[in-house]
Amino acid sequence: SGSVHAAGVHKQYPGPRGVQALAGIDADIPQGRFVSILGPSGCGKSTFLRCVAGLETITDGTLEVHGKPVRGAPDGIGIVFQRDALLDWRSIRSNILLPVEFAHKPVARYAEKVDHLLALTKLTDFANSYPRELSGGMRQRAAICRALVDDPELLLMDEPFGALDALTRDQMNVELQRIWMETRNTVMFVTHGIAEAVFLGDVVMVFSPRPGRIVETITIDLPRP
Ligand code: ADP
Ligand code: ADP
Repeated sequence: SGSVHAAGVHKQYPGPRGVQALAGIDADIPQGRFVSILGPSGCGKSTFLRCVAGLETITDGTLEVHGKPVRGAPDGIGIVFQRDALLDWRSIRSNILLPVEFAHKPVARYAEKVDHLLALTKLTDFANSYPRELSGGMRQRAAICRALVDDPELLLMDEPFGALDALTRDQMNVELQRIWMETRNTVMFVTHGIAEAVFLGDVVMVFSPRPGRIVETITIDLPRP
Protein backbone atom coordinates (compact mmCIF):
# COMPACT_ATOMS: atom_id res chain seq x y z
CA SER A 1 0.00 0.00 0.00
CA GLY A 2 1.24 3.44 -0.89
CA SER A 3 1.45 6.68 0.90
CA VAL A 4 -1.93 8.00 -0.09
CA HIS A 5 -4.76 5.90 -1.50
CA ALA A 6 -8.03 7.49 -2.58
CA ALA A 7 -10.95 5.60 -4.11
CA GLY A 8 -14.19 7.31 -5.02
CA VAL A 9 -13.57 10.15 -2.58
CA HIS A 10 -16.49 12.57 -2.37
CA LYS A 11 -16.74 15.73 -0.33
CA GLN A 12 -19.97 17.61 0.00
CA TYR A 13 -19.80 20.70 2.19
CA PRO A 14 -22.73 20.87 4.62
CA GLY A 15 -25.63 23.32 4.46
CA PRO A 16 -28.45 23.95 1.99
CA ARG A 17 -26.05 25.48 -0.50
CA GLY A 18 -23.22 23.08 0.29
CA VAL A 19 -20.95 22.53 -2.68
CA GLN A 20 -19.96 19.13 -4.01
CA ALA A 21 -16.25 19.92 -3.92
CA LEU A 22 -14.98 16.42 -4.74
CA ALA A 23 -16.92 13.94 -6.87
CA GLY A 24 -15.01 10.69 -7.08
CA ILE A 25 -11.29 11.20 -6.63
CA ASP A 26 -9.21 8.09 -7.37
CA ALA A 27 -5.51 8.34 -6.71
CA ASP A 28 -2.69 6.05 -5.68
CA ILE A 29 0.41 7.83 -4.57
CA PRO A 30 3.32 5.53 -3.74
CA GLN A 31 5.80 6.50 -1.03
CA GLY A 32 8.44 8.89 -2.31
CA ARG A 33 6.52 10.56 -5.13
CA PHE A 34 6.40 14.29 -5.67
CA VAL A 35 2.87 14.97 -6.88
CA SER A 36 2.01 18.40 -8.24
CA ILE A 37 -1.70 19.22 -8.28
CA LEU A 38 -2.86 21.68 -10.92
CA GLY A 39 -6.27 23.06 -11.78
CA PRO A 40 -8.36 26.21 -11.87
CA SER A 41 -9.66 27.93 -8.75
CA GLY A 42 -12.47 26.11 -7.00
CA CYS A 43 -11.82 22.64 -8.43
CA GLY A 44 -11.26 21.08 -5.01
CA LYS A 45 -7.46 21.01 -4.72
CA SER A 46 -7.39 22.50 -1.23
CA THR A 47 -10.32 20.39 -0.15
CA PHE A 48 -8.51 17.22 -1.24
CA LEU A 49 -5.36 18.23 0.65
CA ARG A 50 -7.39 19.09 3.76
CA CYS A 51 -9.11 15.68 3.58
CA VAL A 52 -5.71 13.94 3.34
CA ALA A 53 -4.57 16.00 6.34
CA GLY A 54 -7.63 14.92 8.33
CA LEU A 55 -8.88 18.50 8.58
CA GLU A 56 -12.07 17.73 6.63
CA THR A 57 -14.10 14.53 6.68
CA ILE A 58 -14.97 12.92 3.37
CA THR A 59 -18.64 12.19 2.69
CA ASP A 60 -18.12 9.04 0.58
CA GLY A 61 -15.33 6.76 -0.61
CA THR A 62 -12.07 5.55 0.88
CA LEU A 63 -9.10 7.66 1.85
CA GLU A 64 -6.02 6.08 3.39
CA VAL A 65 -2.71 7.56 4.46
CA HIS A 66 0.09 5.09 5.09
CA GLY A 67 -2.39 2.24 4.77
CA LYS A 68 -4.81 3.52 7.39
CA PRO A 69 -8.11 5.35 6.94
CA VAL A 70 -7.77 9.04 7.76
CA ARG A 71 -9.29 9.81 11.14
CA GLY A 72 -8.21 13.13 12.58
CA ALA A 73 -4.75 14.44 11.83
CA PRO A 74 -2.38 11.52 11.11
CA ASP A 75 1.20 11.45 12.44
CA GLY A 76 4.18 12.22 10.27
CA ILE A 77 2.51 14.91 8.17
CA GLY A 78 3.84 18.40 7.49
CA ILE A 79 1.45 21.02 6.20
CA VAL A 80 1.96 24.45 4.63
CA PHE A 81 -1.07 26.52 3.71
CA GLN A 82 -1.32 29.57 1.47
CA ARG A 83 -1.25 31.72 4.55
CA ASP A 84 0.92 30.97 7.52
CA ALA A 85 -0.61 29.76 10.77
CA LEU A 86 2.11 30.68 13.24
CA LEU A 87 1.39 31.04 16.94
CA ASP A 88 1.66 34.73 17.86
CA TRP A 89 2.91 34.13 21.38
CA ARG A 90 5.86 31.99 20.33
CA SER A 91 9.13 33.12 18.77
CA ILE A 92 9.96 32.09 15.21
CA ARG A 93 12.38 29.42 16.45
CA SER A 94 9.82 28.07 18.88
CA ASN A 95 7.13 28.03 16.17
CA ILE A 96 9.44 26.03 13.91
CA LEU A 97 10.05 23.51 16.71
CA LEU A 98 6.34 22.83 17.30
CA PRO A 99 6.21 19.53 15.35
CA VAL A 100 9.24 18.30 17.32
CA GLU A 101 7.49 19.13 20.60
CA PHE A 102 4.26 17.48 19.47
CA ALA A 103 6.19 14.32 18.64
CA HIS A 104 7.79 14.41 22.13
CA LYS A 105 11.24 14.48 20.61
CA PRO A 106 14.22 16.23 22.23
CA VAL A 107 14.17 19.82 20.95
CA ALA A 108 17.92 20.31 21.62
CA ARG A 109 18.80 17.74 18.98
CA TYR A 110 17.13 19.93 16.32
CA ALA A 111 19.15 23.11 16.94
CA GLU A 112 21.37 22.63 13.90
CA LYS A 113 18.48 21.65 11.66
CA VAL A 114 16.57 24.78 12.67
CA ASP A 115 19.64 26.96 12.06
CA HIS A 116 20.03 25.41 8.62
CA LEU A 117 16.38 26.01 7.72
CA LEU A 118 16.54 29.58 9.04
CA ALA A 119 19.61 30.30 6.92
CA LEU A 120 17.98 28.75 3.89
CA THR A 121 14.94 30.97 4.22
CA LYS A 122 16.97 34.05 5.19
CA LEU A 123 15.44 34.23 8.65
CA THR A 124 18.57 33.75 10.75
CA ASP A 125 18.33 37.23 12.26
CA PHE A 126 14.69 36.69 13.16
CA ALA A 127 14.95 33.43 15.11
CA ASN A 128 14.01 35.15 18.35
CA SER A 129 11.48 37.57 16.86
CA TYR A 130 7.74 37.09 17.10
CA PRO A 131 5.45 36.59 14.10
CA ARG A 132 3.93 40.08 14.37
CA GLU A 133 7.40 41.60 13.88
CA LEU A 134 7.81 39.91 10.47
CA SER A 135 6.38 40.60 7.03
CA GLY A 136 3.89 38.21 5.43
CA GLY A 137 6.52 36.62 3.22
CA MET A 138 8.85 36.07 6.15
CA ARG A 139 6.11 34.42 8.19
CA GLN A 140 5.32 32.18 5.25
CA ARG A 141 8.96 31.14 5.06
CA ALA A 142 8.90 30.36 8.80
CA ALA A 143 5.82 28.18 8.25
CA ILE A 144 7.75 26.30 5.55
CA CYS A 145 10.64 25.74 8.00
CA ARG A 146 8.15 24.36 10.52
CA ALA A 147 6.71 21.90 7.99
CA LEU A 148 10.20 20.67 7.06
CA VAL A 149 11.83 20.50 10.49
CA ASP A 150 11.07 16.87 11.27
CA ASP A 151 11.30 15.42 7.72
CA PRO A 152 7.62 14.43 7.51
CA GLU A 153 6.90 11.24 5.56
CA LEU A 154 4.14 13.16 3.84
CA LEU A 155 4.46 16.85 3.09
CA LEU A 156 1.28 18.68 2.05
CA MET A 157 1.76 22.10 0.49
CA ASP A 158 -1.12 24.30 -0.65
CA GLU A 159 0.31 27.06 -2.86
CA PRO A 160 3.07 27.56 -0.30
CA PHE A 161 5.08 30.05 -2.34
CA GLY A 162 2.19 32.07 -3.77
CA ALA A 163 2.84 35.06 -1.51
CA LEU A 164 6.60 35.15 -2.11
CA ASP A 165 8.42 37.32 -4.62
CA ALA A 166 9.57 35.61 -7.83
CA LEU A 167 13.25 35.31 -6.86
CA THR A 168 12.52 33.82 -3.44
CA ARG A 169 9.99 31.49 -5.03
CA ASP A 170 12.58 30.19 -7.49
CA GLN A 171 15.08 29.67 -4.67
CA MET A 172 12.48 27.85 -2.56
CA ASN A 173 11.59 25.62 -5.53
CA VAL A 174 15.22 24.60 -6.01
CA GLU A 175 15.62 24.03 -2.28
CA LEU A 176 12.41 22.02 -2.01
CA GLN A 177 13.57 19.82 -4.88
CA ARG A 178 16.94 19.30 -3.19
CA ILE A 179 15.24 18.34 0.10
CA TRP A 180 12.94 15.93 -1.70
CA MET A 181 15.85 14.28 -3.56
CA GLU A 182 17.61 13.83 -0.24
CA THR A 183 14.71 12.55 1.84
CA ARG A 184 12.47 10.97 -0.81
CA ASN A 185 9.46 11.69 1.31
CA THR A 186 6.08 11.96 -0.37
CA VAL A 187 5.02 15.48 -1.32
CA MET A 188 1.63 16.74 -2.50
CA PHE A 189 2.06 20.24 -3.88
CA VAL A 190 -0.86 22.40 -5.01
CA THR A 191 0.04 25.19 -7.41
CA HIS A 192 -1.34 27.41 -10.15
CA GLY A 193 1.98 27.43 -11.95
CA ILE A 194 2.34 24.90 -14.74
CA ALA A 195 6.11 25.47 -14.96
CA GLU A 196 6.49 25.02 -11.20
CA ALA A 197 4.32 21.88 -11.28
CA VAL A 198 6.44 20.29 -14.00
CA PHE A 199 9.76 21.43 -12.54
CA LEU A 200 9.02 19.91 -9.14
CA GLY A 201 6.66 17.02 -9.75
CA ASP A 202 7.36 13.58 -11.06
CA VAL A 203 3.62 13.23 -11.30
CA VAL A 204 1.22 16.02 -12.22
CA MET A 205 -2.47 15.60 -11.40
CA VAL A 206 -4.87 17.93 -13.14
CA PHE A 207 -8.17 18.66 -11.41
CA SER A 208 -11.26 20.01 -13.13
CA PRO A 209 -14.15 21.80 -11.41
CA ARG A 210 -17.91 21.31 -11.15
CA PRO A 211 -17.62 18.86 -9.62
CA GLY A 212 -14.04 18.20 -8.54
CA ARG A 213 -12.43 15.35 -10.42
CA ILE A 214 -8.98 14.36 -11.62
CA VAL A 215 -9.07 14.62 -15.40
CA GLU A 216 -5.45 13.77 -16.15
CA THR A 217 -2.48 12.22 -14.37
CA ILE A 218 0.80 12.86 -16.13
CA THR A 219 4.08 11.17 -15.26
CA ILE A 220 7.07 13.40 -15.87
CA ASP A 221 10.14 11.41 -16.75
CA LEU A 222 12.95 13.94 -16.85
CA PRO A 223 16.52 13.25 -15.87
CA ARG A 224 17.06 14.85 -12.45
CA PRO A 225 20.26 16.49 -11.28
P1 ADP B 1 -9.32 25.01 -4.94
O1 ADP B 1 -8.34 24.74 -3.84
O2 ADP B 1 -9.09 24.15 -6.14
O3 ADP B 1 -9.42 26.46 -5.30
P2 ADP B 1 -11.35 24.43 -2.95
O4 ADP B 1 -11.10 23.07 -2.46
O5 ADP B 1 -10.89 25.57 -2.11
O6 ADP B 1 -10.78 24.58 -4.42
O7 ADP B 1 -12.91 24.64 -3.21
C1 ADP B 1 -13.71 23.70 -3.91
C2 ADP B 1 -15.17 24.12 -3.81
O8 ADP B 1 -15.62 23.96 -2.46
C3 ADP B 1 -15.41 25.57 -4.17
O9 ADP B 1 -16.66 25.66 -4.82
C4 ADP B 1 -15.48 26.26 -2.82
O10 ADP B 1 -16.29 27.40 -2.86
C5 ADP B 1 -16.08 25.20 -1.93
N1 ADP B 1 -15.59 25.30 -0.53
C6 ADP B 1 -14.30 25.29 -0.12
N2 ADP B 1 -14.21 25.35 1.21
C7 ADP B 1 -15.49 25.38 1.68
C8 ADP B 1 -16.08 25.44 2.98
N3 ADP B 1 -15.33 25.44 4.09
N4 ADP B 1 -17.42 25.46 3.06
C9 ADP B 1 -18.19 25.43 1.95
N5 ADP B 1 -17.71 25.37 0.70
C10 ADP B 1 -16.38 25.34 0.55
P1 ADP C 1 6.71 40.76 1.91
O1 ADP C 1 6.13 39.57 2.59
O2 ADP C 1 6.07 42.02 2.37
O3 ADP C 1 6.82 40.64 0.44
P2 ADP C 1 9.43 39.91 2.40
O4 ADP C 1 9.21 38.77 3.27
O5 ADP C 1 9.85 39.72 0.99
O6 ADP C 1 8.20 40.93 2.46
O7 ADP C 1 10.48 40.87 3.13
C1 ADP C 1 11.19 41.83 2.45
C2 ADP C 1 12.40 42.22 3.28
O8 ADP C 1 12.03 43.29 4.19
C3 ADP C 1 12.91 41.12 4.18
O9 ADP C 1 13.84 40.28 3.57
C4 ADP C 1 13.53 41.87 5.32
O10 ADP C 1 14.88 42.17 5.04
C5 ADP C 1 12.74 43.16 5.40
N1 ADP C 1 11.80 43.16 6.53
C6 ADP C 1 10.49 42.89 6.49
N2 ADP C 1 9.93 42.99 7.70
C7 ADP C 1 10.93 43.30 8.54
C8 ADP C 1 11.01 43.55 9.95
N3 ADP C 1 9.95 43.47 10.77
N4 ADP C 1 12.19 43.85 10.46
C9 ADP C 1 13.26 43.95 9.67
N5 ADP C 1 13.26 43.75 8.35
C10 ADP C 1 12.12 43.43 7.79
